[in-house]
Amino acid sequence: MVQHARGYENKPAPLLNPGTGQPMTAAELSGVFCDELVAQELNETDAYIPIPQEIRDFYKMYRPSPLVRAYCLEKKLDTPAKIYYKFEGNNTSGSHKLNSAIAQAYYAKKQGLKGVTTETGAGQWGTALSMACAYFDLDCKVYMVKVSYEQKPFRREVMRTYGASVTPSPSDTTEVGRKILAAHPGTTGSLGCAISEAVEVAVTNEGYRYVLGSVLNQVLLHQSVIGLEAKAAFDKYDIKPDVIIGCAGGGSNLGGLIAPFMGQKLRGEADYRIIAVEPASCPSFTRGKYAYDFCDTGMICPLAKMYTLGSDFIPAPNHAGGLRFHGMSTTLSQLYHDGLMEATTAVQTDVFEAAEYFARVEGILPAPESSHAIKVAIDEAKKCKETGEEKTILFGLTGTGYFDLVAYEKYNNGEMDDYIPTDAELAESIAKLPKI
Ligand SMILES: *Cc1c(COP(=O)(O)O)cnc(C)c1O
Repeated sequence: MVQHARGYENKPAPLLNPGTGQPMTAAELSGVFCDELVAQELNETDAYIPIPQEIRDFYKMYRPSPLVRAYCLEKKLDTPAKIYYKFEGNNTSGSHKLNSAIAQAYYAKKQGLKGVTTETGAGQWGTALSMACAYFDLDCKVYMVKVSYEQKPFRREVMRTYGASVTPSPSDTTEVGRKILAAHPGTTGSLGCAISEAVEVAVTNEGYRYVLGSVLNQVLLHQSVIGLEAKAAFDKYDIKPDVIIGCAGGGSNLGGLIAPFMGQKLRGEADYRIIAVEPASCPSFTRGKYAYDFCDTGMICPLAKMYTLGSDFIPAPNHAGGLRFHGMSTTLSQLYHDGLMEATTAVQTDVFEAAEYFARVEGILPAPESSHAIKVAIDEAKKCKETGEEKTILFGLTGTGYFDLVAYEKYNNGEMDDYIPTDAELAESIAKLPKI
């Protein structure tokens, strides 16, 4: 696993305790998170952290994941560009989230915990964590945003099949849930609210900790297996990508994909163009502010310095499920702030157009999240056609879209819209950032 590159001065800003304004200590974090994961979160010195054998054994079931040359896509686009994608949908959970879920479950088990709690929105993280907990025989309590719980019964059933308990949030099983229900009867819930419930259950139950599927440094660290494998495969064939593209929700797949390449870039050994793609409906990098903010709507989690739209920001209903977080990884935020990577946005209908184009030539039915990267990879390949440049493009294909067919249906029926928040809307939530 790749941690930080050497020789680069600007480390990501530390998490702060919202009460004291001081950096979070291991002792403060360990009430909520597993000890070893806290150590990884706060580790600023080790360039590499070995992957324990037990995790490698699990990875053998679905890793290395395929690095695929998209010959059919290249042909269809009639481009001189060479397009590669690293496919992470090749496991039952259907996304890259299993890479971190298994690591987090392993460290929880090693600590002798009974179980873990988490929230899930679209459901990929909850599914991955359920699989990981089943493998290590841990209890798994998932708080699922009520609207998804009702609209995505199949995701819910996969989680239950792997032994997790799934509770629609807000629920009457927690203090915070009961409060929210009293204040907003009939609410369909939000990710921020589900986080608050999952954290409450973790801190009030002996032998439980809370785990998170994106944003944190530890999650980027676990996802660096994606980039390490991709680089090893490229090196074997003496290929060097020119452009690396990934979708960005909280930043974990992109951070993992670029890890070894960015390391080379920071050490001055090689140069790469790196592009983050976010939904136009939730544009943290491109229209957010680089500032300390809460990671949750309930304002109970530590403050993170990141590109953020404000923890109060609720993106318009859209189908980029896993890309609807208001903030961004602190590591990627610092790299973006220092001009080491770029960011761009894509609107929903363009994303689904790219998804279908890709599905028809390459066969894989992509997740809407992943299709943000497909869209920009296709755009870059088209530019190569105009200029005649033979660039090598790598993008992260983070998952499959079998549970997103309602979104595909909307697109196919021409019922999908492209809502983009106004400057005034963003200014409103950004104005509520905590004053640090
Ligand atoms: C969760 C998810 C994402 C976005 O999360 P990141 O932490 O930004 O990687 C992207 N694609 C899929 C398939 C996901 O499930």
